[in-house]
Amino acid sequence: MVSIRDQIKILLMSTSKPEITRRQQQLLNELKKCTDELSGQELHRQLHNGEKAMGLTTVYRNLQALVKQGLIRSRHLPNGEVLYAPVERDIHHLTCVSCGETTRLKGCPVKMMDLSKNTSKKFELLFHTLEYFGLCQNCSQQLNAG
Ligand SMILES: [Zn+2]
Ligand SMILES: [Zn+2]
Repeated sequence: MVSIRDQIKILLMSTSKPEITRRQQQLLNELKKCTDELSGQELHRQLHNGEKAMGLTTVYRNLQALVKQGLIRSRHLPNGEVLYAPVERDIHHLTCVSCGETTRLKGCPVKMMDLSKNTSKKFELLFHTLEYFGLCQNCSQQLNAG
């Protein structure tokens, strides 16, 4: 026998797509429109110009919710800034530790990695980040010249 409560639970489970609020949808749209990654500050500024304005804390709270739902990815920069992009956008960067210049890497080096081989724990992967840090050509030349 399936109780009413269980029936409701089954119903909820089968229909529960990630619940996304209007504000989260707005942020997601902004990120999808942009070809580059955006910080919370930048998103806040972009929305500020329209009638969709929302406070900076609201922006960050909703971005966090989107990350948890696996809809967007976040990347932490050495300066503490966090950049966001839609989760399907798989981009990696080379970042210069001296001047902060970033270069996009072509392709994804970790895409082919089989995670299940490297951990015994069950883990539902939403996204990954991979950062390379070093010195750009300019900075490396300057250091060597000095
Ligand atoms: Zn540099
Ligand atoms: Zn990747």
